[in-house]
Amino acid sequence: MSADVIDGKAFAAALKKDVARQVAILKEQHDLTPGLAVVLVGDDPASQVYVRNKNKSTKEAGMNSYEHRMDPDVSEAELLAVVDRLNQDPAVHAILVQLPLPKHINEAAVIDAISPEKDVDGFHVINSGLLATGGKGMVPCTPLGCVMMLKDRLGDMSGLEAVIVGRSNIVGKPMAQLLLNENCTVTMAHSRTRDLPAVIGRADIVVAAVGVPELVKGSWIKEGATVIDVGINRIEKPDGKTRLIGDVEYDEAIKHAAAITPVPGGVGPMTIAVLLKNTVTAACRQARVDEPIV
Ligand code: NDP
Repeated sequence: MSADVIDGKAFAAALKKDVARQVAILKEQHDLTPGLAVVLVGDDPASQVYVRNKNKSTKEAGMNSYEHRMDPDVSEAELLAVVDRLNQDPAVHAILVQLPLPKHINEAAVIDAISPEKDVDGFHVINSGLLATGGKGMVPCTPLGCVMMLKDRLGDMSGLEAVIVGRSNIVGKPMAQLLLNENCTVTMAHSRTRDLPAVIGRADIVVAAVGVPELVKGSWIKEGATVIDVGINRIEKPDGKTRLIGDVEYDEAIKHAAAITPVPGGVGPMTIAVLLKNTVTAACRQARVDEPIV
């Protein structure tokens, strides 16, 4: 058996099209153009690429994109002042501060300075609380994209055993919450988990969000499981060039899983598409209009 490959690129392209249609309707019927502001501090090359892609995708969807680049040695107070200005700006419906921030800046303080209704990444403590208590907040883009792909593939997930490897605030924990909301039986694994192979071996759904190349071995995967690989690891090849690999040993896992997301081309593209979708959600809520159904 060889697993079906879950095509995150195609999924993301379809979602982006839907978002662009929603934006066209909002402009025409409500004179509303959703706006996303991205704040980038410093010159980390990976962050620069992410921000460029986000900017381009936002414009392609017909939305307004505002970019704020700041020097790596900017003070926390200066950054907070920019966030405050964006909070007050009615043309900005969504704010994303690209992480990681330089060491001298308190990331949590910056995230919690973003108005919760503009917190398009869903990292604000109010949004985490709303997700945990079944409220209507902003949901983190990467886990939301994973759940959309899982639902498309599996339909009703009630009662399925889901194992999430990784317990970060931005991926693992919200992922667990979302799968709990889908009535899965959720196990969270982390660096202190005893016997990870046995824990993974009972999962119908495996979500790997660790940041360790191929940590999850293909032979651990239960026959017929669905595997979502969130990991993005850049490794050097013998010729000195680099390539991206995930947290799952893909070549072996495809022999056991029923479906799997590749790296690259799986979860990554979905994250940006969901960011656009969340921007529309935020704009509609702030303008008190229904999200157009397309
Ligand atoms: P973090 O470093 O914040 O968290 C990693 C988690 O993995 C921790 O909970 C840690 O456990 C756990 N872990 C580490 N080593 C092991 C191990 N040997 N066995 C079991 N668990 C382990 O990472 P993030 O959640 O931010 O990101 C995870 C991966 O996802 C990264 O590769 C990142 O690049 C990628 N990513 C991809 C995105 C996308 O759009 N595709 C978006 C965001 C992230 P403990 O808590 O015990 O330390």
